[in-house]
Amino acid sequence: MKAILFFVFISTAALVFLFYYSNSVANNLDSNEYQLPFGKGITCRVIQGYGGLFSHSHIAAIDFAMPVGTPVYAARGGTIYSYKDDSDQGGPFSAYKHKANYIIIKHSDGSFGCYWHLKKNAVLVKQGTVLAGQQIALSGATGQVLRPHLHFSVKRKLDYRLNSYIRTKFITSAGIIFLKNGETYDQPKD
Ligand SMILES: [Zn+2]
Repeated sequence: MKAILFFVFISTAALVFLFYYSNSVANNLDSNEYQLPFGKGITCRVIQGYGGLFSHSHIAAIDFAMPVGTPVYAARGGTIYSYKDDSDQGGPFSAYKHKANYIIIKHSDGSFGCYWHLKKNAVLVKQGTVLAGQQIALSGATGQVLRPHLHFSVKRKLDYRLNSYIRTKFITSAGIIFLKNGETYDQPKD
């Protein structure tokens, strides 16, 4: 009897843990299909995915490793909402958090596409509308980073609340899918 109760206790604890863990990142979904934010013929590895333990533990964002100066493309069309590209500072410490260059694109449904850690003076479109697949910037390593990469997220609101983030599917050569940490992706060939 004691063994059964112990088993039930352990199982319940495991389920509670799994439930909490699987809900520690927003479960909001977006039915839109996003383009990978880099060019055709380029392959990028996801070095941190949704819920990643380094800096995404409670956010739905994707980090694509790419060398400084890689062209960044709009994953979805919209209107330039804001940008910063006057910083040339980046590093692993939280003191660098506010040194990131970025561009934010507002989508037609009111959500925002956020592109982070851009190179200095490398936001190429600063106002007006952009189409999906249009080049908007060059990647960099500004802000809090361990290595050069592009941080991309889609948000309902520009804050850090769990429910602000949206998980999105990307059009890749492997299909229209959610991206996973550690995998490499490229655009479909046409
Ligand atoms: Zn990130």
